[in-house]
Amino acid sequence: KKTNPYQVTEWYRSVIRTQIKPGDLCIDATMGNGRDTLFLSQLAGPSGCVLAFDIQQAALDSTKALLQEHEHLAPVQLLLDSHAHMSSYADPGTVSCIVFNLGYLPSGDHSIATHKESTIVALEQGLELLKTGGCISLCIYSGGDSGFEERDGVLDYLKGLDSKKYLVVLSCYYNRPNHPPIPVIIYKM
Ligand code: SAM
Repeated sequence: KKTNPYQVTEWYRSVIRTQIKPGDLCIDATMGNGRDTLFLSQLAGPSGCVLAFDIQQAALDSTKALLQEHEHLAPVQLLLDSHAHMSSYADPGTVSCIVFNLGYLPSGDHSIATHKESTIVALEQGLELLKTGGCISLCIYSGGDSGFEERDGVLDYLKGLDSKKYLVVLSCYYNRPNHPPIPVIIYKM
């Protein structure tokens, strides 16, 4: 299937591609249908490792099926748990890249979505788990069923991050109407 290079997923993946090398440990904080899990496991390769979180069993099932269609991937642990517990699964300073794709699965139940409080806890833990030079990719959605609370809370949190330790780069679809997604990259310096 042909991908649209202007889609937000392609935008943040173009950055992630420059960050991950074979053998790395990566985390997909919002597994969903597993497309980011697959992407991370392709980059980390058989000598790497991916931890993938979701709170819906259906996400684990569809991700497992997707991964089975591919080869030469990093081993993936599919975890039925909130990303707010990610610090129980990895050691501080060991992770190269963490991906958050916030909100709900468009094809699923829109009421099962990420929330400001748990997202911020997960970001705090994720920053501890990252190694120096690693990054978090965070894609924020708003409007419609997502509302604005999570977007506003997360942006406030990011604004307060210590600028000596972290570089936060926000992109925006400047001329796109309504409430376009906001891709963010947080680098641990
Ligand atoms: N990246 C996914 C993909 O490629 O298909 C799409 C992710 S979707 C926008 C958001 C996902 O986050 C949903 O599957 C939802 O169940 C999950 N989610 C919501 N709250 C969560 C939490 N606290 N911990 C982990 N996953 C969560």
